[in-house]
Amino acid sequence: MIPGARLVMLGRQGAGKGTQCTRLSRHFVVPHISTGDMLRAAVKEGTAFGRKAKEYMDAGELLPDDIIIGVVEERLLKDDTRNRGYILDGFPRTESQAESLAAITADLPLDLVIDLAVPTDVVLERLAARRVCVDCGANYAVHAPPKHGWTCDHCGGEVIQRADDTEDAIKRRLDIYEAETAPLIEWYEERDLLMVVDGDGDPDEVTARLIRTIDTARR
Ligand code: ADP
Ligand code: ZN
Repeated sequence: MIPGARLVMLGRQGAGKGTQCTRLSRHFVVPHISTGDMLRAAVKEGTAFGRKAKEYMDAGELLPDDIIIGVVEERLLKDDTRNRGYILDGFPRTESQAESLAAITADLPLDLVIDLAVPTDVVLERLAARRVCVDCGANYAVHAPPKHGWTCDHCGGEVIQRADDTEDAIKRRLDIYEAETAPLIEWYEERDLLMVVDGDGDPDEVTARLIRTIDTARR
């Protein structure tokens, strides 16, 4: 992807979106914009906004569209994304968010939307085993822990299970995904922006697949 390319990553919870987007943002040197990470940072700061966001997140509910759209719009107006492009992770998640994104990016439209596709039984297994660094958001798993205890290999932060990775919240998030977010796959297909990439298998192999797909799309 050349500097300036604008990409959206769709995919179910537990599809490995976060990890893959982090890798792609390093490979292509473009900002990684994760709404989940931005919200978790606000929760950690303990702002009024963060406290409100936490209620929705812990319940597995989406934040109201107007609120999250405002957060994303503000971020996309910054110079780095205008100059270098971005990988948008966790947004849009509803048709109304997709429509707003199209309006926000009317002068610099999206280049590509990728659906990182992973079977349901695999995502359920991954979500239950998932552990994350509270400081930098790096992903681990029960069977793939950090090297030293439960402290992050990258930043030394504490590695824990996310508050919204409980069985109830996971179920709620997957239901919302099917109802609200999955229809966006067709929505972007109709607009000729969609490529589907198989997200099942070895993470390094998935990264290689993604890079090949993006390189092909930019030709
Ligand atoms: P996951 O993909 O595992 O659900 P994320 O880290 O992407 O996790 O998001 C965590 C939570 O943040 C969501 O469950 C939701 O409450 C909130 N959130 C993130 N992105 C959005 C969005 N685009 N619209 C509404 N809520 C969002
Ligand atoms: Zn960390």
